Amino acid sequence: MKTVEIPLMEELAILPPAPDACPMCATQHDPDVPHNAQSLYYQMKFRQEHGRFPTWDDAMAHCSEETRQRWQLELKLHGTYTGKGGRRRG
Ligand SMILES: [Zn+2]
Repeated sequence: MKTVEIPLMEELAILPPAPDACPMCATQHDPDVPHNAQSLYYQMKFRQEHGRFPTWDDAMAHCSEETRQRWQLELKLHGTYTGKGGRRRG
């Protein structure tokens, strides 16, 4: 039996976000809160532009210092923070 290699990620077509969704992460959110770092659209788009997958730090880079600190705290509480010192960095 012959196996067929399916290239992951590289050739996936990304559907454009809905008109009322954020153009970066295709998720509906206020402009001053982080992008949805777990959005596949965001991960693909970010990787195309930066050559790596985004962390939550990237997703909240545009936010105010206060917002970032609040989100980092919440994400750490939930164990999903992947920013500096996060377990998925690199
Ligand atoms: Zn967004």
